Order: sequence, then C-alpha cells, then structure tokens
Amino acid sequence: MPTHLKRCTKCMNYTISEANCKNCNSPVENVYPPRFSLQDKYQDYRMEHFRKKMHEKFPDLKKK
Ligand SMILES: [Zn+2]
Repeated sequence: MPTHLKRCTKCMNYTISEANCKNCNSPVENVYPPRFSLQDKYQDYRMEHFRKKMHEKFPDLKKK
C-alpha cells in the first residue's frame, strides 16, 4: 500500500509521489482512504457523550 498516493486534479490519473501528473502535467492532490474516516467515529462518540451528559443534567428527557 503506497503511503503517498496522489491523484491528478484534471484527468484523475493516480500517481505516486509525483509533483505533477504524468499524463497531462497538471497538479496532483493527496488521496485519502475513502470514508473510513476517523472524524465520523469521533463524531459518533461525541454525540453519544453529549447525549449521556444531557440525560444526566436533564433526567426528565429519559421519560420521553
Ligand atoms: Zn492528469
């Protein structure tokens, strides 16, 4: 698994550690792993945490 996978912003050609695309010489951008994102996990965690805190502060909410 290459660590520096990049993709051309113009022709979407994948390349590794190139400054510019080999096909069209356009700038390339870093490609990140698709949507197994840590951010979402943290968001879930935060929401869960938030919900618990809310229930602690406002126990009445549980009844609904
Ligand atoms: Zn290109």
